Amino acid sequence: MADIINLLPDNIANQIAAGEVIQRPASAVKELLENAVDAGATEIQLIIRDAGKELVQVIDNGKGMSETDARMCFERHATSKIQTINDLFSIRTMGFRGEALASIAAVSQVELKTRLRGSEIGTYIEIDNSAVKKQEMCQTAEGTSIAMKNLFFNVPARRNFLKSNAAEMRHIVDEFIRVAMAFPQIQFTLTNNTQQLFYLEKGSLKQRIIAILGQHYNARIVSVKETTDYMNVHGFVGKPETAKKTRGDQFFFVNNRFIKSPYLHHAIMNAFAEMIPADSFPLYVLFIDLDPGHVDINVHPTKQEIKFDDEKLMYAFVQSAVKHALAQFNITPTLDFGLDPGIQQLDAVSKPFTEQQQAKSVNTSLYKSFTQANQAHTIDKSSNLKHWKDLYGSGESNVTYTETETETMDSPQEESYTTHSTTIESRSSATSMIDEGWQDTSIDQKVPVQVHQQYILSQIKSGFILIDQQAAHERILYERYQRAVQETAIPTQQSLFPQTLQLLPADAALIMEMIPDLQILGYDLEPFGNNTFVVRGTPADIQSGNEQASIEGLLEQFKHFSHELKLPRREQLIRSMARNNSIQAGKSLSTREMQNIIDELFACTMPNSSPGGKYTYISFKLTDLAKMFG
Ligand code: ADP
Ligand code: MG
Repeated sequence: MADIINLLPDNIANQIAAGEVIQRPASAVKELLENAVDAGATEIQLIIRDAGKELVQVIDNGKGMSETDARMCFERHATSKIQTINDLFSIRTMGFRGEALASIAAVSQVELKTRLRGSEIGTYIEIDNSAVKKQEMCQTAEGTSIAMKNLFFNVPARRNFLKSNAAEMRHIVDEFIRVAMAFPQIQFTLTNNTQQLFYLEKGSLKQRIIAILGQHYNARIVSVKETTDYMNVHGFVGKPETAKKTRGDQFFFVNNRFIKSPYLHHAIMNAFAEMIPADSFPLYVLFIDLDPGHVDINVHPTKQEIKFDDEKLMYAFVQSAVKHALAQFNITPTLDFGLDPGIQQLDAVSKPFTEQQQAKSVNTSLYKSFTQANQAHTIDKSSNLKHWKDLYGSGESNVTYTETETETMDSPQEESYTTHSTTIESRSSATSMIDEGWQDTSIDQKVPVQVHQQYILSQIKSGFILIDQQAAHERILYERYQRAVQETAIPTQQSLFPQTLQLLPADAALIMEMIPDLQILGYDLEPFGNNTFVVRGTPADIQSGNEQASIEGLLEQFKHFSHELKLPRREQLIRSMARNNSIQAGKSLSTREMQNIIDELFACTMPNSSPGGKYTYISFKLTDLAKMFG
């Protein structure tokens, strides 16, 4: 019987192998850009023609190649980046398989020009279908230029498989952005058919993000930075208001390599959960650095998916870091409303935190919690603004009550903020008279002032803040109710005269389901048949006599939320209660009440926004005010 096994000729074997590495022009873009980065370039140009089908060229000013290396680099498994198998596990450079150039050479026509740094003369090599066509010395700039022409000219089946120019171009731009984002210290340009699409100057990560994703992010991103023994994370997340209905502005890099991780994406979405509408996506550009020994980057041929040693730890870490950044940073639209864009560009406005403050924020409980294994997910509730009183200046008590104020404090009712108070009217006139009493004398004593029965103005060391009383109280209640669910139930205030509630059948069914949660949250409610319920008690901070209104309002709010948001039922209930029981705009507050709101707000885990994502306060800095006044 005749032998039938043949060894495949090299060029065919290479074409097959190339299929894994080079699937479309964008794959070559990625490989060539990464090589240029690895070569230590500080300026990299990407030139595209016909969406890369005709030409993908990368020109860098990196270290270049010797004549021998220029020839060698197209051989399979030719790499300067791995010497031993151990290198595989500690590799920090971008490419590491020594396959990219061989693959590119197998499926296109390549022209390489390279000159070693410090060398007099360069090398020119032309390759066609893996075969060297020409090699000679040449004059060329220091660094390397690789041009890949006519991709898949020799594999028509693959060439036909390419998508429209628009689609291929989008892939190219995606790859370009991913590399450019990871190396803001390198200058990148992208030219398509003689049109320059990107010119990215060297700069900071923030500048790079804005240059790539748009000026509108200026002043709307906050920095994330956490350092632990196990890993570091740094980067930026968009403020909640910048969340978009479409994806595209989300980037994860592990050891500076772009990766896709639905799992870590989820961690971030979770950190934003109560701040942005469902189905919307916040910007994030996050870099995670950890010992390469803890990641396996080889699980996917295009290396965009990786495996972590300890996925849960990564999840908790990323989530905490983002939550922490959101809580730590002043997520308030400082002077963002209708101001001259010139002012918004000012550092003081666009960079909410000073380096000093940033350094401080790194030094937080998150760090400490990470040194205790698996504690990543707990942020000490009171930690992030533990020193919030510093906002108010020197150590002494931040409020000086005037004598008249003590009169208000005598009234025990003042302690609770109730929405449905029937005594609002009578009391508010009294309060405002008292308020007028101190207004002219105590402005400089840091006593909060109510503005239009809607906002609380409070002087702080660096200027003043304006608190939205409703949003702030909603946040306070929301966290109180959350704690109730997780830790200790809200005390119930038993009614002297239990009330009967007659509900529509659908509402009755809804309430039936919620009864166990309602009990934890302080309601004492019992079904009485026929869609009726007896209300025996309500949360202690709801004024008695309002049981019915309280539950009806709650139902209304709950239905509103079920309609708007896809949240777990309990979360919906808590939000509904917080919304429903919060102080509304239009209620006048005593100084004591305002001070309580301020105190409690800043004791919250996330004081910056209401559960629905509204700002709870806006800060006005003296420096910015001075600029506004010119
Ligand atoms: P890998 O990057 O995995 O080593 P490649 O096929 O991408 O494999 O590149 C092979 C080798 O060619 C690299 O290891 C490097 O030594 C050299 N090389 C490729 N591109 C460049 C470049 N732009 N500048 C300098 N050297 C390069
Ligand atoms: Mg490479």
